[in-house]
Amino acid sequence: MSNPALHSLSGHFSLSGHFSLSDHFDLIIVGAGPAGISTALHLAQIAPEMVQRTLILEKAHHPRPKLCGGGLLPDAEVILNSLGLDSSDVPHYDVDWAHFDFGGKGFRMRAEKKGSFAFRTIRRYEFDAWLADQARQRGFHIQENTSVKRVSLNGSEVVLETDQGEYRATVVVGADGSKSVVRRLVVPQESTHTARLLEIVTEPRPEASFHIQANSYFDFLYVPQGILGYSWDFPAIEKGRPVRVRGIYDSNVYPLKTDISLRDALADEIGLHGYQIEEYELQGHPLRWFEAKSALSAAHVLLVGDAAGADALFGEGISIALGYGRFAAQAIQQAFAKQEFSFRDYKRSILRSEMGRSLQRRTWLAKTYYRFRSRAIQALVWRRLGWLVEWVMQTFIIGWAKR
Ligand SMILES: Cc1cc2nc3c(=O)[nH]c(=O)nc-3n(C[C@H](O)[C@H](O)[C@H](O)COP(=O)(O)OP(=O)(O)OC[C@H]3O[C@@H](n4cnc5c(N)ncnc54)[C@H](O)[C@@H]3O)c2cc1C
Repeated sequence: MSNPALHSLSGHFSLSGHFSLSDHFDLIIVGAGPAGISTALHLAQIAPEMVQRTLILEKAHHPRPKLCGGGLLPDAEVILNSLGLDSSDVPHYDVDWAHFDFGGKGFRMRAEKKGSFAFRTIRRYEFDAWLADQARQRGFHIQENTSVKRVSLNGSEVVLETDQGEYRATVVVGADGSKSVVRRLVVPQESTHTARLLEIVTEPRPEASFHIQANSYFDFLYVPQGILGYSWDFPAIEKGRPVRVRGIYDSNVYPLKTDISLRDALADEIGLHGYQIEEYELQGHPLRWFEAKSALSAAHVLLVGDAAGADALFGEGISIALGYGRFAAQAIQQAFAKQEFSFRDYKRSILRSEMGRSLQRRTWLAKTYYRFRSRAIQALVWRRLGWLVEWVMQTFIIGWAKR
């Protein structure tokens, strides 16, 4: 056994490093992304006795690929700092300005008025592997290469069927992303929509593009054509070399017939900067956005991160995933203290929090703003009303972790 803390567990490791069948744990966290690891790290802070009674199951092996722009807002940094962590320990790029445009023209801002950069970009395979290491250093065991296939409730135990056998726990946290398997137990019949995203990573071409290398760009050019989101272009560092991470986000808050496919819109946009889409590996992934009426827990089960719901307006989810961890850890600590596992108050604690309020506003804003699809209104918003957009963002959207 590699981890002495695990001696107290009923299970034992096989030669492959996995626990044996039918092990029972107090807590199993499904998914070792930012939401799952944040839940673990917050638990280690407020209920260190839980570390030895927790197992984290992860279907991949860190460092694992994760499609993401890697834009890390200051809210993420506030939460990481509260856990004694600093994202500058990971390779990163400090983005000078964030531009919000319609057809290449608009305004620019920084997330923090006094800040010297707009936000930071990281590559997720590095960031998530670093976070997972922090959990291991605090004594958590992450069992990788274990995919959860089905989750069911058997009396007061949650049963997890995986490709490595069956596991049982008193409490399960679904931190398994937008396609969450755990969510199916909490919300068996889904009617909410998910956003659609495509992404490519390119080399910088300063000679062909009017985008400045140090800056990031959001362009809402395709809203009039029914893509209810934006194209993005972020600078980042990949294996020590500068790259641009580009993509397109369709919130899908209203599932519309679009005049242009997501791929063609991205091809069109990057074409303006001297790139041919055929030359790059194009990847897509959905993103579940937050819907206040949707359940976030069931008896013995909690959802966090994308499995619960992220930002509908921009698809920002890393800081949110980290933020969920704090509420889940508090709910778990209280549940074991009272031996009461209904998790009835979990959703209320999120809705009443600054993060929950920000999420509700983002969904409302997405549904309101993306109704206005005329070119004239889009041009007016981004080219003339930048001061108003910035005020709304600073006051109602970002900065929730500090309030
Ligand atoms: C193209 C794209 C670009 C994005 N850009 C940004 C951005 O720039 N900034 C930002 O803040 N957000 C961005 N997001 C959103 C952000 O990536 C997510 O909100 C964030 O990753 C959510 O973290 P999570 O821990 O909830 O889920 P994930 O990061 O998806 O982690 C889930 C983990 O669970 C594991 N898992 C999944 N299923 C199982 C299973 N059945 N059994 C066991 N393990 C399982 C996965 O392997 C993974 O490690 C982007 C999303 C996409 C798709």
